[in-house]
Amino acid sequence: MVYEVAILGSGPAGYTAAIYAARAGLKLVLIAGPEPGGQLTRTSEVENFPGYPQGVLGGQMMEDFRQQAVRFGTPIIYDVVEQAELRTMPKRLTLSSGEIVEAEAVIIATGSSPRWLGLEAEQRLYGAGVSACAVCDGYFFRGQPAAVVGGGDSACEEALYLSKLCSTVHMLVRRDKMRASKIMQDRVRSTSNIFIHWHTVVVDILGTDRVEGVKVRHLQTGEETILPVRALFVAIGHQPNTAIFAGQLELTENGYIRTRPGSTHTNLEGVFAAGDVQDPVYRQAITAAATGCMAALDAERWLAEQRYHRALPSP
Ligand code: NDP
Repeated sequence: MVYEVAILGSGPAGYTAAIYAARAGLKLVLIAGPEPGGQLTRTSEVENFPGYPQGVLGGQMMEDFRQQAVRFGTPIIYDVVEQAELRTMPKRLTLSSGEIVEAEAVIIATGSSPRWLGLEAEQRLYGAGVSACAVCDGYFFRGQPAAVVGGGDSACEEALYLSKLCSTVHMLVRRDKMRASKIMQDRVRSTSNIFIHWHTVVVDILGTDRVEGVKVRHLQTGEETILPVRALFVAIGHQPNTAIFAGQLELTENGYIRTRPGSTHTNLEGVFAAGDVQDPVYRQAITAAATGCMAALDAERWLAEQRYHRALPSP
């Protein structure tokens, strides 16, 4: 059977695309990917998604998204796409089970993964002071000291956001310069409670069930010190999950899928991208959900045009 739309990914973008596509009566399938529910299943409380006045656990919120998609008849395959042939008609997706899924349109909502330092304590204390999202978790550390690792625009943004909530923000930059744009660097430097530590790397995160400090090393002197922070925000970049599409889809220099401005169309006919996989800037559940909605509407219109102009047979 050939589906009208296959949706890849089960974060806010994928499920929202499914809700819209299913309610539009499209014959669809959603392939959940390696981490059903996406990045939000690994955060604790989500307090900034409208509609949850008391906040909600990230995992619960994604379960709510899933149930809403299922309620309108979305079939979900809990598997991973290993190969995607996006230039053919229909498009062919090979799953790790060996199953082939064919669809006229594909919505890619495979998200991105934060880069991590690779320390043992980092994953152990994830959600207990270690985070990759200040907008999500900064509020829990208001009035307390925090640290941010990285020297890019993301790290500057995280530090500036935290400077309004936390008592002190230590920015840990491994070189003698930042990669961030000048304007972001200027803002960071002129914020009185942000302290930049140059040539500095994190060697350990202290604490058993919550962050109690960060051990840092000065790369030139070798001196190690402990910063008494309650949170460590890792902002050393994200890796968009686009490896299997390279060579077919046009990507930005950072590996994100390039979409036509104001839409979710990619460079390939019938292939749409939504959520963090095409967004290095906002990366919020609400913006991912919004672009998931756009992708479903774009796909629906594209399919209608195909039927009209090319007399594509109805499935
Ligand atoms: P970047 O790749 O730009 O920066 C990553 C930073 O992390 C660099 O300072 C890098 O150091 C540092 N880093 C990498 N690995 C380690 C490590 N193991 N230990 C310590 N530090 C490390 O990533 P961003 O997420 O900041 O930005 C990605 C893209 O998104 C950029 O193009 C950026 O401009 C854009 N962006 C734009 C925003 C905006 O316009 N408002 C907001 C956020 C992002 P080094 O330089 O030494 O390699």
